[in-house]
Amino acid sequence: MKEFSYLKKIKIDNDIEVPFISSKLLEKYSDRIAFGFSTRLGGVSTGHLESMNLSFHRNDDPACVYENHRRFAAAVGYDEKKTVFSDQVHKDHIRKCTEEDTGKGIIKENDITETDGLITNIKELPLMTFYADCVPLLFYAPDKNVIASVHSGWKGTAKKIGPKTAGIFRDDYGCDISKLICFIGPSICKDCYEISSDVAEQFYDMAEYDISAEKEIYNDSIDKYDLKNVHVDEYKSNKTCIDGSGKSYDDSDKTDSWSGKTDDGSNTTCDELYKTRDVTDDSSSITDNELIKYDPENIKDILTYSGNDKYHLSLQKAIRKTLIEAGMKEENIEISGICTACNDKLLFSHRKTNGLRGNLAAVIMLR
Ligand SMILES: [Zn+2]
Repeated sequence: MKEFSYLKKIKIDNDIEVPFISSKLLEKYSDRIAFGFSTRLGGVSTGHLESMNLSFHRNDDPACVYENHRRFAAAVGYDEKKTVFSDQVHKDHIRKCTEEDTGKGIIKENDITETDGLITNIKELPLMTFYADCVPLLFYAPDKNVIASVHSGWKGTAKKIGPKTAGIFRDDYGCDISKLICFIGPSICKDCYEISSDVAEQFYDMAEYDISAEKEIYNDSIDKYDLKNVHVDEYKSNKTCIDGSGKSYDDSDKTDSWSGKTDDGSNTTCDELYKTRDVTDDSSSITDNELIKYDPENIKDILTYSGNDKYHLSLQKAIRKTLIEAGMKEENIEISGICTACNDKLLFSHRKTNGLRGNLAAVIMLR
């Protein structure tokens, strides 16, 4: 049997290749739903928006943005003129969309404001949310045929917009939460996502994080290994630290003599290594095997202290935990393991580009 491939490369108009990212769990229902997460490839925008920018709010030529929507829709299999756009203000409001919302944002003025999540049981109504590091959540309830597209950045995750959506599936549409499916799509990974203490504080409870104990362990590990800024959880779990070239440093390297040196002898840290990680220049040749993927199961803790009052957060695992607490089954939740910053030739990343980027989109529609 052919192995599942996250990267779908669909040819439209006979010869234009439009890649997008799929989901293992949702694909089982592809007779009932059309869905996908866009990449930055296959569009017509130029410069830092190259090429599949799907936002009309990033100073792109609107004709280019519309053509990008047409192409993405043709590849995924929906009518772009019917798409409903979210507003995305990092809050937790979810709109129940009806036929009246058809085309809002793309061919009609959008009166949907202060909204980060869209849900519907109406067929042929594609729900679209936008991204460049934040976490896309695509939901499908097979028992009642209801879908949702939800934007969960750190603020939405702290406000538990995902579990709130699950509650609407149950209360407003009569769905059984234990049957609900969620795809947690491409978004910034824990290694690439450094946050300040004021953000971290909001996740202490969710992460079951003991700040005083963690700082103690961190200080110990610095004394012992003389390794600054190397993620503490890798030491606690005795995992290896992988650098940008794919070389891993095991326990024997954790000595006083190794301080994160690269092959050319320069000093660096894990974070810097991740930042300098080279992704293939010829983006058109990216295949599924070349996608840089992480295994979410290898992430031990949701939140980790990394020194200098900074932390690293796994939004994906925080969301999964809160969805399970809301009654979803672990096997019905899929974390793609695809990071927007690690795969910056394929995807737009706000962090990686200091904000000079276009927007990706997640879409789902009932057939
Ligand atoms: Zn990453």
